Amino acid sequence: MKAVCWWGKGEVRVVNVPDPKIINPHDAIVRVTLTAICGSDLHLYDGYVPTMMRGDILGHEFMGEVVEVGAEVKTLKVGDRVIVPFPISCGRCWFCQNKMTSLCDNTNPNAWMNEAMNGFATAGIYGYSHLYGGYSGGQAQYVRVPFADVNPFKVPNGIPDEKVLFLTDIFPTGYQAAEQCGIEPGDTVAVWGCGPVGLFAIRSAWMLGAQRVIAIDRFRERLALAASDGRTETLDYSDEDTFDELKDLTGGRGPDRCIDAVGMEAHGTFADAVLDRVKQAMKLQFDRAHVLRQAIHSCRKGGTVSIPGVYAGFIDKIPMGIAFAKGLTMKMGQTHVHNYTKPLFDRIERGDIDPSFLITHRMTLDDAPRMYQTFREKQDECVKVVMRPS
Ligand code: NAD
Ligand code: ZN
Repeated sequence: MKAVCWWGKGEVRVVNVPDPKIINPHDAIVRVTLTAICGSDLHLYDGYVPTMMRGDILGHEFMGEVVEVGAEVKTLKVGDRVIVPFPISCGRCWFCQNKMTSLCDNTNPNAWMNEAMNGFATAGIYGYSHLYGGYSGGQAQYVRVPFADVNPFKVPNGIPDEKVLFLTDIFPTGYQAAEQCGIEPGDTVAVWGCGPVGLFAIRSAWMLGAQRVIAIDRFRERLALAASDGRTETLDYSDEDTFDELKDLTGGRGPDRCIDAVGMEAHGTFADAVLDRVKQAMKLQFDRAHVLRQAIHSCRKGGTVSIPGVYAGFIDKIPMGIAFAKGLTMKMGQTHVHNYTKPLFDRIERGDIDPSFLITHRMTLDDAPRMYQTFREKQDECVKVVMRPS
């Protein structure tokens, strides 16, 4: 089959590889009908996630048709149409039973690596390094889906792939980010980053009752998409100082809820951002945490900072004293996607939201090398790339 493979920093290749096989009676094989490139894939592309190996198949946002099931699979059958959440859940461990599926204890066969590095392990993730289990990803024609009775979510025929694909990751991720804010009536929510995750966080903040939402980025087309709901206010941080501007916009108090939908590859020109860049280049630290610092600085006293943006390591100069003095609540982490698939699918079916609004590039797997580059550089007004197998 054809698959998009990691080939080293800044390089992906489309390669012919063996078809996946059932290796456990609880597995299913899915023929991929649509897949996407995620901002998280850029951290792999840019070489910031350790334990990637040449030839690893990328992709954790995918959907398709079940073409084979293992002997023990009870709830799926050949022909079912499914979306597959990016974290792999066993459904049985304490974490899965307590609705924290991205922290599953059982689905990362390389848990020892994580334990040696960090003292704990989290769930396996498709196409996301050997540290996260070394699973082959879904930017391919076929993919093996383990724990097939627990993970895939069946979608009826008749609803287009583009409307449901993002239930695998970015829609739940934006939603969880907004939900973790604990939005109360009257709240102003500020969202850093108008990439796919930020855009879904913005839409979700409105769904959860925000009074005002302020979106921050520097790419005009992304700010325009944020504002396309007719009520989100936008702030171009290349024109204004984010901290001062947010203060002005909120009567000097600061936004009640702050969402960092940027993560470890934040762009910035302030001294802290320049220092981050140098340290990252010298491999002294993984993360550029400019936005996280700014969110902590900007948030009103007693507010919440929610962090869906990915961070990977130890970070310097986090203003913990300020977070403490202001009595902030901070929430973060990989999304427990399984909690959100059904309720968000229902919203899509009801017509509350059409998640395909942010797709700018419709391609095939063959275009992946060029599209990784385009999405990384935010060229060609690229916001979200989806790819069909051919
Ligand atoms: P993206 O790269 O398309 O978007 C990031 C956006 O942040 C860009 O538009 C960029 O211009 C903007 N940005 C950069 N520096 C900024 C600054 N200083 N101020 C304001 N905006 C700034 O990526 P994405 O797909 O939207 O993903 C965003 C983050 O979410 C990534 O770190 C990704 O890994 C993470 N993510 C997390 C989960 C999860 O489970 N928690 C799931 C998916 C993605
Ligand atoms: Zn993702």
